[in-house]
Amino acid sequence: MHLETILAQAGNRNSQDQFKSVSAPLYFSSNFRHDSLAEVANFDEDKQFAYARLKTPTRSVLEETLARLEGGKYAYALSSGMAAIQLVFGILKQNDHVISLNDLYGGTFRYFDYLTEHVGIHFDEWDGQKVADLVALCRPETRLIWLETPSNPTMKEIDIVEVCHQIKALNPEIIIAVDNTFYSPIFQQPLQDGADLVIHSATKYLSGHNDILAGCVITSSDYLAAKLSFNLKTTGANLDPFDSWLLLRSLKTLPIRMKQHQANAQIIAQYLEEEPAVSKVLYPGKGGMISFYIKDEAQVANFFEKLQVISFAESLGGVESLVTLPDQQTHHDMAVEKRRALGITPNLIRFSVGLENATDLIADLRQALH
Ligand SMILES: *Cc1c(COP(=O)(O)O)cnc(C)c1O
Repeated sequence: MHLETILAQAGNRNSQDQFKSVSAPLYFSSNFRHDSLAEVANFDEDKQFAYARLKTPTRSVLEETLARLEGGKYAYALSSGMAAIQLVFGILKQNDHVISLNDLYGGTFRYFDYLTEHVGIHFDEWDGQKVADLVALCRPETRLIWLETPSNPTMKEIDIVEVCHQIKALNPEIIIAVDNTFYSPIFQQPLQDGADLVIHSATKYLSGHNDILAGCVITSSDYLAAKLSFNLKTTGANLDPFDSWLLLRSLKTLPIRMKQHQANAQIIAQYLEEEPAVSKVLYPGKGGMISFYIKDEAQVANFFEKLQVISFAESLGGVESLVTLPDQQTHHDMAVEKRRALGITPNLIRFSVGLENATDLIADLRQALH
């Protein structure tokens, strides 16, 4: 079946529902009764429920949907995107080597600094240009490659197929993980491209309404799934029932939302290209995220204050349009020299194009830029 069908029907006809409700029920229970000691002795962790850190009915329905969404076998829903990233890095140990893209979500860099200092994981960075340079960075102790595409906030695309092809030829054991938050599975499915793990900040497009914090990890590998599920049950940063229910509900409209985010972004990118107050637009032609440079840095503060429809707020991927200043917000913890080298300057604006009418958004941008 097609993604639109899978998502619109998500939760309907699910195996945990006894009343045939069309909308998946929300179960608030931290624990579940056993009928007998024999049931406990023969407990099947994949099918039965005992305690909410292990598995809950509402989260199970969500996780089945998330797995299908990325074409994977297993999915884990967590309390934030960062918790999802932490779950992945929980697979690694001291002295393991990781290569990451050099242009990532700022919080991911902050976590990599933590892993370097407190766990003793070694990181190298790749600029996302030539795959041969990435191959050259690999060592015998390289365990994982971390990608985010398009990159954040400078919107550079990476050819996941080519990276997977070359890295797997070199060493099939190297885990390739892709943060797919920006494109969502509607525009990019990294597992189909050969990656081992997909991570989302589901706070963004997957939930799409600027109302919950959530994350997920999806894989088709039995080996990785065993490690992830053991780590999740041990550490417990899983998503609560209510947020699981909200996320499941939001996923039903993901395909139609993504189409409209993209349609709006394409119109707005074209306007920005022609806008004299803007010196450069970074838009890969796909998805709903645009970065752009305001020509006169002295006008940046005015721009934020004059906006009437678009909100000056962190985050992205929701129905409401948002703008942020990566230099001061998402990427502020990155060293200033590094920010400048990547093009993260005080006049770089990141725009999450929402679902308002594009004409109204352009009118708001125009009045705020002049
Ligand atoms: C927001 C974001 C994260 C972190 O997710 P949270 O849900 O805020 O913890 C990770 N990666 C990307 C690309 C993000 O945009």
